[in-house]
Amino acid sequence: MSTLSSVSLSPADLARYSRHLALREIGVRGQEKLKAAKVLLVGAGGLGSPAALYLAASGVGTIGVIDNDRVDVSNLQRQVLYDTQSVGRPKADAAKERLLALNPEIELVSHAVELRAANVREIFARYDVVLDGTDRFNTRYLTNDACVILRKPLVSAAIHRFEGQAMTYVPGEAPCYRCLFPEPPADGLVPNCAEAGVLGVLPGVMGTIQATEAIKLIVGIGEPLLGRLLTYDALAMRFGEFRFTRRADCAVCGDHPTIHQPADLAEICSAEVMAQVRRLSPLELQALLDKVAIVDVRSPSEFSASHLPGAVNIPVSDIERRLDQVSRDQLTVFICRSGARSLTASAIATRAGLANIAHLEGGLLGWAQEIDASFVVAPVG
Ligand code: ZN
Repeated sequence: MSTLSSVSLSPADLARYSRHLALREIGVRGQEKLKAAKVLLVGAGGLGSPAALYLAASGVGTIGVIDNDRVDVSNLQRQVLYDTQSVGRPKADAAKERLLALNPEIELVSHAVELRAANVREIFARYDVVLDGTDRFNTRYLTNDACVILRKPLVSAAIHRFEGQAMTYVPGEAPCYRCLFPEPPADGLVPNCAEAGVLGVLPGVMGTIQATEAIKLIVGIGEPLLGRLLTYDALAMRFGEFRFTRRADCAVCGDHPTIHQPADLAEICSAEVMAQVRRLSPLELQALLDKVAIVDVRSPSEFSASHLPGAVNIPVSDIERRLDQVSRDQLTVFICRSGARSLTASAIATRAGLANIAHLEGGLLGWAQEIDASFVVAPVG
């Protein structure tokens, strides 16, 4: 955090943060770093709520909140920034008010917008550390890619039912989110989240861990979650850790990155584009097999494990760059493991103006089930 400018503490600060000042590891110098720091929260929901409250209470000088939603009554079970009076209000506004009531000494910036490729650079440039608390895969990958490209430290967390995960990325020092999860998961195109259940207190634990990591990064103490995915199982009441390293073939932080600009998965997969994508069932593909070009959009390792005869491998992260290799004359069928990545690839090609394309619905898993039981589909990797 060498870019942080120093600010001095006021008498009011000395009183408010006395319990921090009493810690040798933080002290006046550490508290000044917190006061000078600018932290951005992507999402002010379950994870962002406790993170924002603790960062504000801790005296982080500038806190930005990006959220384009309004408070819904079903949020109150876990989004502790809001109360019953907040229902219907824009989250970014309600969050700002609540955080300033907690700590009027700090600056709050509310960004009531949807984070997109078009605004991510401008917003991220104003902050030193980014906390990702979104439940949307497109925002999560956009945030990761933007942090790698703009060289911003990122603390990510995710929650599902009774389980949580957290990890920290520091440019040049650690693997990124994509090193661990190269592509959105198979069901990633319809990730929401709105219908899934979650234990209300779970984001409280994980969001507080994110705030802890941010404070450690800013002050420069302790051992951050670099190359370590922290896992938390609330039912078993057990924390675990999964170590991982940077992937040389990571699409964004690898040796030869293919992602040079933050891009919108959401825009790629707009309903309008999706409606134009032709979908083939395994049976329909079988009937057309000798008349079509097949582009397998899985990773090279999945492809080399097994693929359909005649298929060409172009990983989905390379599709945009290698569209010139997709046939204009023949019908091209994109395929992958489950049909999620091939749908994305079809959407990318459709958006780029290619008309003669389709994707295999249900992917090779469906192919193995309906057409060829001897076909073994490699796991995502
Ligand atoms: Zn990476």
